[in-house]
Amino acid sequence: MSSAKGAQSEVEEVPVLIVGGSLVGLSAAAFLAWQGVETLTVERHRGTAIHPRAGHFQLRTMEVLRSIGLQDIVRRTAEDQYDLDFGIAAVESLAGRELAVFIQNLNEGVDAVSPSTRFFMTQQSLEPLIRKRAEELGARLNYATEMVAFEQDADGVTATIRDIDDGRERSVRARYLIASDGNRSAIRERLGISVEGRGLIAHSVTIYFRAEVAARLMEGRRLGVIYINNPVVRGFLRMDKGNRSGFIAVNTVGDTSLPETSRIADTITPERVVDIVRAAIGVPAAEIAITQIIPWRTVADNAERYAQGRVFLVGDAAHTMPPNGGYGGNTGVQDTHNLAWKLALVLKGAANPKLLDSYDAERRPFGALTVEQAYARYVRRTAPYLGIETVQPLVDDWAMEIGHHYRSSAVLNEGDDSASIHTDPFKAAGRPGTRAPHLVLERDGQRLSSLDLFGRGFVLLCGPGGSDWADAIGRLANPLVTVHQIGTPASWQEPAGAFAEAYGISPEGAVLVRPDGFVAWRSRGAVPSPAKTLAQIIERLLSVPLTVS
Ligand SMILES: Cc1cc2nc3c(=O)[nH]c(=O)nc-3n(C[C@H](O)[C@H](O)[C@H](O)COP(=O)(O)OP(=O)(O)OC[C@H]3O[C@@H](n4cnc5c(N)ncnc54)[C@H](O)[C@@H]3O)c2cc1C
Repeated sequence: MSSAKGAQSEVEEVPVLIVGGSLVGLSAAAFLAWQGVETLTVERHRGTAIHPRAGHFQLRTMEVLRSIGLQDIVRRTAEDQYDLDFGIAAVESLAGRELAVFIQNLNEGVDAVSPSTRFFMTQQSLEPLIRKRAEELGARLNYATEMVAFEQDADGVTATIRDIDDGRERSVRARYLIASDGNRSAIRERLGISVEGRGLIAHSVTIYFRAEVAARLMEGRRLGVIYINNPVVRGFLRMDKGNRSGFIAVNTVGDTSLPETSRIADTITPERVVDIVRAAIGVPAAEIAITQIIPWRTVADNAERYAQGRVFLVGDAAHTMPPNGGYGGNTGVQDTHNLAWKLALVLKGAANPKLLDSYDAERRPFGALTVEQAYARYVRRTAPYLGIETVQPLVDDWAMEIGHHYRSSAVLNEGDDSASIHTDPFKAAGRPGTRAPHLVLERDGQRLSSLDLFGRGFVLLCGPGGSDWADAIGRLANPLVTVHQIGTPASWQEPAGAFAEAYGISPEGAVLVRPDGFVAWRSRGAVPSPAKTLAQIIERLLSVPLTVS
């Protein structure tokens, strides 16, 4: 990708240009539109994904989709494809022995911590739903359009955009550029941002097939992802509803003590593909129809910077990881949720651009952890020849999904925490930098989750003894902060009586929650002048002066 100088046509202006309109670019468009930010997304392909790819989605991904009104439709569509409560196991083959159960039931224990669920769904059916929502909210998407060059200066980014069909070029001037252009990101390369990690670890293939015999072998089995581990093939398999078709992602073929066996994509032949699927199914003469073969590179790398000037890397452009654990797409969607509210506040002039530094500070360390955790799962489940002793101990899935512990200028961390970037979400208890806990709230017969209170501005939560905090919000000349005094007649009730404990405060304390549902700050008890305290806190978080009336 080159410099944008010399682009011919008139300059079109947009606050945020998003390059790449796959899962992560579409999420960026939807979250920014939800925040009221105008965007233009350009995507080289003619439409959304045509291959299933990501299939295992996290609780946190559903929570952020819920926040923009997508949970019901996503859940219904997912249920048409898979059973959401299925598990993940390893077998020799579908006809062979079970070797390990990694997850018994994907949604066991979820009710207690979230209004959302984990789900299995193909990326190819999730993307159109996010696209539709983004467009409903006002996002503009240009397909069959690519960015061929860009240049940034102190005030913005100038990009050259080319229509793939007629080759016509136009110039777009944006205040910010989001690079959701995938794992080989030309934007990242052009910025000279290197990656660090394990590098390229396998030349893999995904084989799509039909095999009637699989229906019988899958009968009564409740498995969404099935790792295959035998002397012929290692990888994982997902069957479609009805169990007559599916795909197998193959990372190594043959003697798994030899790293060369991971070069499957280089040595694939039609006969070999059929043998691989038969070996995965475990029926040597099974009738197999191959519908498609897609080669891909298994990489485990994290960018050394997630931002440079006015350009932000998100999704696979920022971090690429083996699919094991189902982290790649999820992490990308959550990157954009973290970035969207910050860009919105800066573009509206409600926050100093310094707030944007917190994107890298919060997401990059967690990205690095996620890449290593995906790699650890890959080595343990599929490629032990890489050395199980060389990988990190596994971090619990709950901590990986909802146990982020951010440290940045957008959080006022408490001095007594452990400095770890992940925490046990069952013990986080409203600690600044962690996801605000879910509680069921009720008012006038209506029920919602505490998570539903968060979204656009900051929210101050306090208990019945927190009237001074509630009054203080009225004295702040800042429409960004709303207050909910939980348990008072005019506000939400929390029938379980767990609010103060769940958020780690006394009945006189208060918790300030960011638009992305993470705790920015809390005061465990009352303070002498709450309005002044809040003004100082918000000034520190957003680096803009505030007045108190
Ligand atoms: C077999 C497999 C299974 C997986 N399973 C899971 C899973 O269970 N869970 C999970 O979370 N993740 C999973 N993943 C990972 C997931 O698919 C990726 O992390 C996700 O697709 C990344 O999305 P992205 O939008 O960042 O990048 P991509 O999907 O790579 O999209 C980048 C887009 O940018 C476009 N583009 C690039 N350059 C330009 C340009 N200059 N102009 C215009 N457009 C451009 C490309 O055309 C492309 O559409 C899996 C991946 C594979 C291969």
